[in-house]
Amino acid sequence: MQRLNDPDFIVVGSGPNGLVAANVLARRGFRVLVLEAHPRRPGGAVASEELTLPGFVHDVGAGFFSFGRSSPAFRELDLEAAGLRWQNAPFESCHPALDGSYACIARDLELQAAHFGSPRDGATFASLARFHAGIERHLLDALLRPFPTLWPLARMGVSALGRLAGLLLRSSGSLARSLFESDAARRVLPSLGLHVDVGPEDMLGAPLPYVLGLTATTGGYALPVGGAQAITNALVTLLEQHGGRLKLGAAVTRIIVRGGRAQAVAVADGEEIAARLGVLADTSAPGLYLSLLERGDVPHWVRARMRRFKLGFGTFKLDFALSAPVPWTVEAARQSAVVHAGESIDDLARFVREVRGGKLPERPYLVVGQHTLVDPSRAPAGMHTLYVYSRVPPYLHGGWKDAAARFADRVEERIEGLAPGFRKTILARHVLAPPDLEAMDANLVGGDLGGGSNAWNHQLVFRPVFPYFRYRTPVRGLYLCSSYAHPGAGVHGMCGYNAATIAARDAR
Ligand SMILES: Cc1cc2nc3c(=O)[nH]c(=O)nc-3n(C[C@H](O)[C@H](O)[C@H](O)COP(=O)(O)OP(=O)(O)OC[C@H]3O[C@@H](n4cnc5c(N)ncnc54)[C@H](O)[C@@H]3O)c2cc1C
Repeated sequence: MQRLNDPDFIVVGSGPNGLVAANVLARRGFRVLVLEAHPRRPGGAVASEELTLPGFVHDVGAGFFSFGRSSPAFRELDLEAAGLRWQNAPFESCHPALDGSYACIARDLELQAAHFGSPRDGATFASLARFHAGIERHLLDALLRPFPTLWPLARMGVSALGRLAGLLLRSSGSLARSLFESDAARRVLPSLGLHVDVGPEDMLGAPLPYVLGLTATTGGYALPVGGAQAITNALVTLLEQHGGRLKLGAAVTRIIVRGGRAQAVAVADGEEIAARLGVLADTSAPGLYLSLLERGDVPHWVRARMRRFKLGFGTFKLDFALSAPVPWTVEAARQSAVVHAGESIDDLARFVREVRGGKLPERPYLVVGQHTLVDPSRAPAGMHTLYVYSRVPPYLHGGWKDAAARFADRVEERIEGLAPGFRKTILARHVLAPPDLEAMDANLVGGDLGGGSNAWNHQLVFRPVFPYFRYRTPVRGLYLCSSYAHPGAGVHGMCGYNAATIAARDAR
């Protein structure tokens, strides 16, 4: 039996990256202790709770898992062996507009081609999906493993690389306009960029929407049966099978450095726990460098960079308990795991300008999740949950006290426009403004779900700060393993996987 106070490695935080890191280390024979601040549950932004009414299970953060089946970390850990089961809707994503036009992404490419704005656009996207399916494994290896990873690019071949470069070295709006003729098809990829903070006209903004759009045609926006918590529970089960331990209600307040090396952590209740070989922080980068480490342990210039750290957009999240499914005017939206509200590239660009200008958008772009269409276990018989988020400024002038209810009404209004009668189905509503998200999970600074900005100049060697892009920090034995490190946002666990692999190598 492993002793709680004698670990080789301490992992601070039990988000997917923290738990994957802990699993990787435990499988290599190290004694691992995960300390999680949340008092009741692990998982960070990958968790489920009854937020509205008894029997309605809502995902508090991530709701759709494009990397669920394809992440190298998840494949290696084999979450299915711990009971995880994935499900998909007929359509992965639907992009309807008020004029009744729409485009959908599906894994079935015939279905896909028939529902993508126009027959020509349907054929173009299906052909792109076939190209992507041929290179996906190499592409994900290149994007998700520690940067730089050149062998997967070499395996892709010169011609595929040339085609990818032609597609991706531009903005998402430019990519969409170059590929498609209909407005319906053109709004699809740019709207996916707003899952993080990549606007339609942002320089080199195409890669992220491409990955989100095209992985939806392979693994899809997969949903775990029972809710996002099932992913976390699977990771905890696997960790414990390999002797690792998790402690809840253990907020780490200090990483203790002696002789230039991370030696221990201090927990809020005053306990100090030594780590024989090192500490992995599944924390925010500014939190690590500005709060958890003493001033003298961090180079002055790193602290200065962290004070100016660029956040992504804030997130405004709503969860509903419904008496019936959403009555979307567009039929295909009634069979889609996710529905996106955003009329056109111009509409999305206007939305981005408002958020960047510090304003609450008039007509919010929306990501709407319909989990119970696929997984009825998440609500009482015949009833439904609805998961919605929009993007907002991380810090709102005047605060959220009065603004939250007002903005939630705007969100409802936008859904009502696309689905008249929606409001009549609402049994209860739960609102999480950016400060509520941050209170739930300290990594969601200002409600930013992306681990900082995901713009091109905050990726790869710049993430979170050059030259510390390969998980090591200025302190020996201390690694950053959260989505603030490469490859960033998303539930793939690869920040944790990569950091743990490097930490294990250093320890040997
Ligand atoms: C509303 C929302 C929607 C999202 N939608 C999707 C989606 O559909 N698909 C997708 O792939 N991704 C989505 N994401 C993003 C995804 O959830 C994150 O990229 C992912 O959870 C990052 O994992 P992580 O382990 O780095 O951090 P987190 O999941 O944020 O976990 C960090 C953990 O560390 C703990 N912690 C932090 N500091 C300390 C400390 N000092 N002491 C102890 N514990 C600490 C926190 O309490 C938390 O449990 C969404 C996120 C949000 C918030």
